[in-house]
Amino acid sequence: MKVIKDISALQEISDYHRILRKKIGLVPTMGYLHEGHVSLLLNARDECDIVVVSVFVNPKQFLPGEDFKEYPRDFLRDYHICKKSGVDYIFNPDEKEMYKENYFTYVNVKELSDKLEGIYRPGHFTGVATVVLKLINIAKPHCVYFGEKDAQQAVIIDRMFKDLDVDTEMRICQTMREDNGLAISSRNIFLNENERNEAAILNKVLNEGMNMVLENRVERCDELKKILEEKIKSESPNSRLQYMSITDDKLLDEIENLNEYKGEIIISLAAFYGDTRLIDNVSFTKM
Ligand code: AMP
Repeated sequence: MKVIKDISALQEISDYHRILRKKIGLVPTMGYLHEGHVSLLLNARDECDIVVVSVFVNPKQFLPGEDFKEYPRDFLRDYHICKKSGVDYIFNPDEKEMYKENYFTYVNVKELSDKLEGIYRPGHFTGVATVVLKLINIAKPHCVYFGEKDAQQAVIIDRMFKDLDVDTEMRICQTMREDNGLAISSRNIFLNENERNEAAILNKVLNEGMNMVLENRVERCDELKKILEEKIKSESPNSRLQYMSITDDKLLDEIENLNEYKGEIIISLAAFYGDTRLIDNVSFTKM
């Protein structure tokens, strides 16, 4: 396994493997790797000849006042996890390598980036789309792997690939969870034991919401949200729900009448425990 810091070095390596007809898989991450990331790495290992993981805390996707500085980092730990997971190359550029002087270009997936998460984190998805497209141009992968946990990110990247004719396949891997159902996240280390226990409610209500929709037990989106929000409040007094939304998976528009709707549904939410912001979602098909 090699650690690459230069863009041009990784581009040459990718060219070399492409000439040899090797299939390259890329797993973009911000490091502080956990089982969620490892499941992406193992999927890539299964499907590709060469596995590249990027470890880069992308400043462009954090808003002023967000936790860019506090975001957990431990490269040595990441290195060992990658080695164990069969990674071939870790791309770990400095900020200055990724965003050189006079950096002016951004990718904005309009319409989709300002909804849900985008309401509370304006500009976040521009940072995400920009870094993902840069990483694709650097690693030149045949396949790129993302987690279902960041559902809106997956929808936006998929749109960007289609709109900009990006010749890379996208794979979405299921969310890895703690035993109590809490979605594994690099930010979970900031939760105390009580918060970690309480936060299990998020996954529980998402599943409950899904079942209620599938069994036609609720008609109005607002009504369902109210039921689920109250459940979170009563079972997790230390939580502060920021939003919950029930949308389709293409335009991310709220579904008003759940009984009439047919197709993919994403129920997503963000909640704070202290200063720690957690996101989670469930997606399913309503026939
Ligand atoms: P991050 O390092 O948080 O930017 O995440 C890098 C990738 O890992 C993203 O595509 C995430 O969706 C994915 N990911 C994060 N947490 C999980 C999880 N618990 N299960 C599966 N994938 C995850």
